Formats: sequence, structure tokens, C-alpha cells
Amino acid sequence: MERTLILLKPDAVQRGLVGQTLARFEQKGLKIVALKLMKISPELAAKHYEQHRERKFYPGLVKFMTSSPVVALALEGIDAIKICRNLMGATFGADAAAGTIRGDFGVSRSFNLVHGSDSPEAAVRELALFFPEGIVGYDYAAYGWIYDPVEELKK
Ligand code: UDP
Ligand code: MG
Repeated sequence: MERTLILLKPDAVQRGLVGQTLARFEQKGLKIVALKLMKISPELAAKHYEQHRERKFYPGLVKFMTSSPVVALALEGIDAIKICRNLMGATFGADAAAGTIRGDFGVSRSFNLVHGSDSPEAAVRELALFFPEGIVGYDYAAYGWIYDPVEELKK
């Protein structure tokens, strides 16, 4: 099982797309292991996007991400990082394939609705930033039907 950080960005919250966006991940079969509405501080935004610090779009990105609340969630599943990136679609809404979150709900190059960790290392780092309190452990009844228990859930 892999875990990933997903952020429903300020545009998703302000446009009333939290439910529909969250549903995409949930329906796919990802388990929600943490979830909260929060405002991102400039300090947290700087840590989260430190790899982009020198990019031209960085000041606007930090301004956008701190302008209004986000929904932060931790999702779990086999190959969760790749699956979430596929559900999100390409970075720019105009390029993102139909059927993806960014492809279906946006056109912008910066207001693109959702963030997802892009590697296992990034996921560990980002989850620690957004959920220092840790994730919520529980048995997910649906796992026995989302995965083949014999082939996929055996330890
Ligand atoms: N971004 C932007 N302009 C750009 C490239 C990126 O505003 O030209 C923003 C956009 O919100 C994007 C975020 O910066 O989601 C992080 O960029 P990255 O390349 O990591 O894209 P992602 O991993 O989110 O697809
Ligand atoms: Mg990225």
C-alpha cells in the first residue's frame, strides 16, 4: 500500500467542486486516511513548493495557494501516487485529457484544482508537512472488493 497527499486547491473549494473532485478519488477505490479543510500559511506553501522556488510562476502560485482554504487529504492504495496523478490529468487544464479532473473542470495553467504528490519521496515529505498529527488507521471494508484478496491483498 502506498500513500499520497492530495490538495483540493482554493479554486476547487471556491467553485463548489470539493464533493465531485473527492468523489473521483473515492470511486476509483482509494481509501481516505486523513481529511481536513485548512488555510495554508505562506511558510507551509514555501516548504511544500520549495522545488519551484526559482520558477517564474512561484510567487503567483504561493499567493493562489494561500488565498483561500484548501481541502487536504491523504489517500491510500496500491500504486496510489500514479493512480491519483492519472485521475488529475496534465498540469494545464487546456491540455488535460477529458475524463480527468483537470480536463473536465478547468482550463487554467495555474488554477488547476488539485495537487497530488509525484513520487514516493515527495509523498512522505508532503504528508509530514500537511498531517504532522499522522493519518487515521482503520479497516476499510471495501478493500476486500476493490482488490482481489487472493492475488492483491496477500502479504
Ligand atoms: N503552475 C503555474 N504555472 C506554470 C506551471 C505550474 O501556475 O507554468 C502551478 C500549477 O498550479 C501547478 C503547480 O504550479 O499545479 C506546480 O507545478 P508542477 O509542475 O509541479 O505541476 P503538477 O505537479 O501540479 O501537475
Ligand atoms: Mg508537481
